[in-house]
Amino acid sequence: MKKGPLLYRGKAKSVYLTDNPDEVTMEFRDDITAFDGGKNAVLKGKGQYNAAVSAFLFEYLEIHGVKTQFIHMLDERTMLVRRLSMIPLEVIVRNVAAGSLVKNYPFREGDVIRPAIIVLDYKDDTRHDPMVNDDIVYALGLVNREELLTIRKLALKVNDLLRTYLSGLSITLVDFKLEFGRWKGGVLVGDEISMDSMRLWDAKTRESLDKDVYRFDKGDVMATYAAVAERITPGALHRYEAEKTVFTGEGSG
Ligand code: C5P
Repeated sequence: MKKGPLLYRGKAKSVYLTDNPDEVTMEFRDDITAFDGGKNAVLKGKGQYNAAVSAFLFEYLEIHGVKTQFIHMLDERTMLVRRLSMIPLEVIVRNVAAGSLVKNYPFREGDVIRPAIIVLDYKDDTRHDPMVNDDIVYALGLVNREELLTIRKLALKVNDLLRTYLSGLSITLVDFKLEFGRWKGGVLVGDEISMDSMRLWDAKTRESLDKDVYRFDKGDVMATYAAVAERITPGALHRYEAEKTVFTGEGSG
């Protein structure tokens, strides 16, 4: 497997082509951004914590019957993934009121939301990821009815699986964002599931265990990411040395 040219550079991840047209590599960089990139920093080691958590949760979903882009890790911050055709929707599932839900609607932070709410945002930073409804999604031709039904079902299934797993660790899954892509006639979970894309609270103290620590200067971001990565993926950070796959990186053939 040979690392090819850069395909896409996002705010915190870079995607590279490989010599297999069906596979790309996804590198989790140390960049952290908030407020549409208005606040940004580089935090050494952050990429590997998000990569470890994403890899672990993708594997967890796969074991429980949810198909994802994930193939395997190549090094501590790089995963080999299926090359999906990404759908420009942010599919947000909310179990507890927080963030933009509290800012924009008369919920109080911490209100439990049952059944969980799915919010669809159109992924476009220049438009500040505006919320869309099903009619807008269809009118824009982003997905068809069958695909949207599948996406909603998968989002709720992922929510049930992650919520249950995390609550066993005394972590409340407040909300999270998924992205989906097309793959050989179906729709798979893509992108990442990490501290950047989930809102996590310690179930006992309600302490933030995610990017809110960075957004709102709540404390030591890297100490939080390191601790929550270790909590979610016991030993995952050390595992990759042992598992290292033969990976021909740039410049080494
Ligand atoms: O900001 P808001 O409350 O709408 O975010 C809901 C959830 O979606 C949070 O867990 C947040 O981290 C995630 N999110 C994301 N990427 C965005 C917007 C939100 O991962 N562009």
